[in-house]
Amino acid sequence: MSAEKCEVCLEEKPKLVTCGRCGNRKYCGAACQRKDWSTHKHSCQPKKQPSWILKITIPDSREPQIWRTLVCPDNATFQELHYAIQIAFGWAAAHSYDFVARDPTAEERPVEDIMALIQRRMVQDNDEQRDFGPRQNFIRIVNPNDHKMIDSMHSYDRKHSQTPEKKADKVYVGEQFNKKEWKNAEWEYMYDFGDNWGHEIEIIGRGNVDDAFKCTDGNGHGIAEDAGSMPGWEELKNAYRAAKPNDEQKEKMHWYENMASNFDPEGLKGRESYVDLSVINSLLKSSMDCMD
Ligand SMILES: [Zn+2]
Ligand SMILES: [Zn+2]
Repeated sequence: MSAEKCEVCLEEKPKLVTCGRCGNRKYCGAACQRKDWSTHKHSCQPKKQPSWILKITIPDSREPQIWRTLVCPDNATFQELHYAIQIAFGWAAAHSYDFVARDPTAEERPVEDIMALIQRRMVQDNDEQRDFGPRQNFIRIVNPNDHKMIDSMHSYDRKHSQTPEKKADKVYVGEQFNKKEWKNAEWEYMYDFGDNWGHEIEIIGRGNVDDAFKCTDGNGHGIAEDAGSMPGWEELKNAYRAAKPNDEQKEKMHWYENMASNFDPEGLKGRESYVDLSVINSLLKSSMDCMD
């Protein structure tokens, strides 16, 4: 095999370095690569990698447990994944969110007494950070528009001085899932720091290189926004299960069919396991089209 030429200085070398991002452009060494970057960056496209198959579960949900299988492109940002989860679970994107990679070796958090909690909250209300127990997460990926979100003020317990934070529109799913330091870590998506809807993200496989967001499987009707955490959601389901709902239950059902931010005019009766993949997928398609 003949020697190849550096694409900048045209010098021949038996072994050239390749642009790690696109894998296309070849250089004699780091100096030429650096020199070339200001022009090459405009045409340098990251190498395409297979999509990620994610099983996303709301672990606290019961009868039925609510879960979706989502195909996520490798080059999607976490903000795009956030929107895809919103669509797949029928949320209304009315609250803030974050993603964390959990450290399985983290020491457990201590149980905090009420006085300590109040004291800590007072410090936090002055915008000072005080850690609650040992670090739990390798990284936290946050909503880039958090300043607009009222409920972001409840997110303090998710912060930690030893957990780096990055903005969701700037970090890529594939890059994070492949990180040596936390490969195979369990990921969690938290939506709404008031009601705390935790979603477990499990990587169950890889798909094709050209995949777009797709929901391939799932079970469980989406939860009503602002239902009042899991107990509130259970109460709403019980209202629909009641043979003779009382006034309070009727009121709850009326609220859900007309007023919740992700209201469902058809209600929940007999529809607790309802998922319509074709509706989800057409929404995924149109929302990602307008993000391009
Ligand atoms: Zn060169
Ligand atoms: Zn390149």
